[in-house]
Amino acid sequence: MRILVVEDEVGLAESLRRGLSADGHWVEVAHDGHRGLELALAGGATGGGAGYDVVLLDLMLPGLTGYEICTRMRAQGDPTPVLMLTAKDGEYDEAEGLDSGADDYLTKPFSFVVLAARLRALARRAGAPDRGATLQAGDLVLDPQGRRCRRGAQEIELTARELAVLACLMEQPGRAVAKQDILDVVWDTPHGIDPNIVEVYVSSLRKKIDAPFGRRSILTVHGTGYRMAPDGG
Ligand code: CA
Repeated sequence: MRILVVEDEVGLAESLRRGLSADGHWVEVAHDGHRGLELALAGGATGGGAGYDVVLLDLMLPGLTGYEICTRMRAQGDPTPVLMLTAKDGEYDEAEGLDSGADDYLTKPFSFVVLAARLRALARRAGAPDRGATLQAGDLVLDPQGRRCRRGAQEIELTARELAVLACLMEQPGRAVAKQDILDVVWDTPHGIDPNIVEVYVSSLRKKIDAPFGRRSILTVHGTGYRMAPDGG
């Protein structure tokens, strides 16, 4: 994806650039509001009008705030998905942010895993090309867009939420994913929900994708969450 990061904390902006670039994205960074708006509207420093797939917008910026940038983008008819970053709970008024046209928001400090997953979700909703459309772990294949899952030739029926939890794990093979991160990504309103709810969905997933095939592909990482065995178990 082409991603614009507008963030005045230079250290954070750089770590976002490094992390997102390492994930295969093309990243541009602006450190103040005016430059951010200019880049967002131009669709990139080099012009060409290819545009960004997602804009990552810090709320408190020198020059223009994240709200103002987002409002002006929408006023110019720019539909690029915007993920708003905010320093702490309370600084950000979610309603105001959504009024300004932001698509999602994330409170600092955030986990990079959650950020990456939210960006993918935004891009998917916007219909951007998603290279990782089909996920694979051994002979387990998941097509999140087509809502289909199979192990080998055997089709497996999953509910929408089971499918989303499994996608969350399969997008990060071999990495431990915290229950809270899964909750943040899969549930629309994760606030106030006990992260242990994720156990219920992992349990039913194991009964569908592992037990009938004698596999153990979703491993429990004690004290953290779950890890998808890269070889599919
Ligand atoms: Ca800031």
